[in-house]
Amino acid sequence: MQDSIGAMAAGVRSGRTRARDVVDAYVDRLVRTEGTVHAYLAVLADEAHRRAEQIDRLPLSERSRLPLAGVPIALKDNIVWTDGPTTAGSRILENFRSPYAATAAVRLSDAGAIIIGKTNLDEFAMGSSTEHSAYGPTHNPWDPKRVPGGSSGGSAAAVAVGSAAAALGSDTGGSIRQPAAYCGVVGLKPTYGRVSRYGLVAFASSLDQIGPLTRHVEDAARLLQVMAGYDARDLTSLAAPVPDWTAALGQGVKSLTVGVVEEYLEGLDAPVAQAMERAERILREAGAKVARVHLPNSRYGLPAYYVMANAEASSNLARYDGVRYGLRVAADGLYQQYDETRRTGFGAEVQRRIMLGTFALSAGYFDAYYRQAARVRRAIADDFAGAFEQASVLLTPTTPDQPFRLGERLADPWRMYLSDLFTVGVNLAGLPALSLPAGTVGGLPVGVQLIAPALQEARLFQFGTVLEQAFAPLSWPDPV
Ligand code: GLN
Repeated sequence: MQDSIGAMAAGVRSGRTRARDVVDAYVDRLVRTEGTVHAYLAVLADEAHRRAEQIDRLPLSERSRLPLAGVPIALKDNIVWTDGPTTAGSRILENFRSPYAATAAVRLSDAGAIIIGKTNLDEFAMGSSTEHSAYGPTHNPWDPKRVPGGSSGGSAAAVAVGSAAAALGSDTGGSIRQPAAYCGVVGLKPTYGRVSRYGLVAFASSLDQIGPLTRHVEDAARLLQVMAGYDARDLTSLAAPVPDWTAALGQGVKSLTVGVVEEYLEGLDAPVAQAMERAERILREAGAKVARVHLPNSRYGLPAYYVMANAEASSNLARYDGVRYGLRVAADGLYQQYDETRRTGFGAEVQRRIMLGTFALSAGYFDAYYRQAARVRRAIADDFAGAFEQASVLLTPTTPDQPFRLGERLADPWRMYLSDLFTVGVNLAGLPALSLPAGTVGGLPVGVQLIAPALQEARLFQFGTVLEQAFAPLSWPDPV
């Protein structure tokens, strides 16, 4: 099984490797590992084989135009695709089939990628552990007694265990980067608006963004290259030009400044603190300058995020009424039907968020909660702008901790929310950020995060490859 998707696609393009064999290898791996990991909610093996054979039959002239020829990619199950169901991890969408496909997935497929399945997630992407999936949790391939993180836990686990070459996730407050850190893979949250949200099941529309989870920084650049760019079907899509990101990969970081955020160094577990020191040293040795920077409003990030995200969720989830989509629980009378459907179809965490969000938007509380959160959001964006006057990129831990045990935080939502401490600010400010593996401690991965100004993903790839090359490569987990 080939490791980098660039090499994999080159092999298929030239005819040296058959797409069919690549798919077979990943499906075999998937069948061997799913019993332990449970990364997938739906496996699309037949469809993947058909698509692979189609690619193998293309004349060389056509196949050579496919940057992702034959690369097996998994989609988080809140990204709609026309094969298989889309459940968003919820009972309320059990057996729901989408009549259309998400732009990001269509662009990957048009580039020759092969969609091999839909991955597990916390219900409607609300969570940090994948334990809020209505279909059972995903297990961390490094230690199946631990969570893979969330909400894109299935995507991160699939890439880590090798049952997908890459996967898409969505990131509203950290849901790509936190599971990437917990599973030892690369996770990229692009600039808000960089990748179309068309076909992403909406959680908090002003924060949601689709992005790749991969084994290598270069792979993330290749996927973004294909997915990025204006889409008239998403009103918040950016018309910004899409640069050639692979060009940024080998540039080095000499005489550029990296900002280390003081507020993000508090309360770290020892392995994370060590990884941060190591990352700083690597960048120094590569010729970068290190500056200490401040994001003084960081401590308000989590509370503001949970007001904003829940408020938007309460409005976005109003559409699941038992009439238009998925589950319908019959009752006497229309309102009773809404009631019963939503009570039965939504899990406890989703209900909690809808209630909190509705409360924050209600007359009399709007100013105290929503408007206040909007002010914090502005202040946090200003903090980042100030930090970027001193530094090209910021270096932070992705999470304060390493993957925790299944069940450990279920009874205490606030502790669960704390694993997003260093990721939510980026979403509130609409910035791009990359989590990458910084080695393992005690057999469990640690992640560090790079943050760049809006539209400067190139800097993430530039700094990311330097770090990636210096950190010892991981020996991938084999839990079976
Ligand atoms: N864990 C955060 C939450 O529960 C972020 C989720 C996400 O990014 N989708 O809201």
